[in-house]
Amino acid sequence: MTANETIPVVLIVDDVPTNIKLLASALRQDYRVKVASRGEDALQGARLEPQPDLILLDVMMPDMDGYEVCRRLKSDPVTEFIPVIFITARDTDEDQELGFNLGCVDYITKPFSVPIVKARIRTHLRLKRQADALERLSHIDQLTGLANRRQLATTFEMELKRAAREGMPLSILIVDIDHFKDYNDHYGHGAGDVCLRQVASSLMNSLSRPGDLVTRYGGEEFVVILPMIDSAAAYALGERLRENIVQLNIPHAFSSAASVVSVSIGGTTAEPLVDADSPESLLERADKMLYRAKEMGRNRTVLTTT
Ligand code: GH3
Ligand code: MG
Ligand code: MG
Repeated sequence: MTANETIPVVLIVDDVPTNIKLLASALRQDYRVKVASRGEDALQGARLEPQPDLILLDVMMPDMDGYEVCRRLKSDPVTEFIPVIFITARDTDEDQELGFNLGCVDYITKPFSVPIVKARIRTHLRLKRQADALERLSHIDQLTGLANRRQLATTFEMELKRAAREGMPLSILIVDIDHFKDYNDHYGHGAGDVCLRQVASSLMNSLSRPGDLVTRYGGEEFVVILPMIDSAAAYALGERLRENIVQLNIPHAFSSAASVVSVSIGGTTAEPLVDADSPESLLERADKMLYRAKEMGRNRTVLTTT
């Protein structure tokens, strides 16, 4: 550990005080320990600074059980990347499968040996640190392999300048999966991740020109940059992207838009000969159209009219 690296924070969640004491006293030498004895407190403790680098989560608790706590942690952008280890007496395969589906990184069954718990915590903290470091350096989104938001900022700026120089149009599309929260809630976070990857590669494979860029904008949203594409062509492309995703045929029984996973697309076109646009203003315009597409019933493409 280097000098400027702070001591990792571990949040222990258990409704039984003796369990908390046992773990806390074992971890205090190496970590900053936060504790919570109820689900609600755990959710709050995960959001408040110092945010935990890892959460040890008991499954059986009154009021809100550990699975529900995990589900909520993973659907909150502020806490979704904190690794969760379940510690529990429930050790059937089904229990563990449920835990992993909710996005936990590990599952430790009671009674546990303290040295083993410590070793696993060390491993997961190291993996988290490496993933974070990679993420900071990388222009690639870890889950989908697409360009990430950082890459988008660079490319967007460059392409927009080029479009202005050459007096050519440039279109962008924001692609957002319909009712994806319900997909996660019903099929599990693991299945949600698989779905995201499938949608990402469909988008990639649906575009053929080298100048086109597909990026993961965040969560279940993608931004596509289409240099030298005017509004009419952008609409046609958006529809192709959308249809190809419907054709993946991923069942989604909890969507109002279709019986399979679908996307809504909002887009706009920069016409440098008419107006000077910034990446921000274009994204804002496309986002308004995305909102309109959702309002109109989802599973459609809406572009600004020029
Ligand atoms: P809408 O049709 O209006 O877009 O509804 P929605 O449910 O798709 O929109 P909302 O923004 O409410 O939910 C987005 C969900 O995407 C919430 C979150 O759990 C899920 N999500 C975001 N990132 C990831 C991820 O990396 N993996 C998984 N599995 N789910 C993710
Ligand atoms: Mg969204
Ligand atoms: Mg969505």
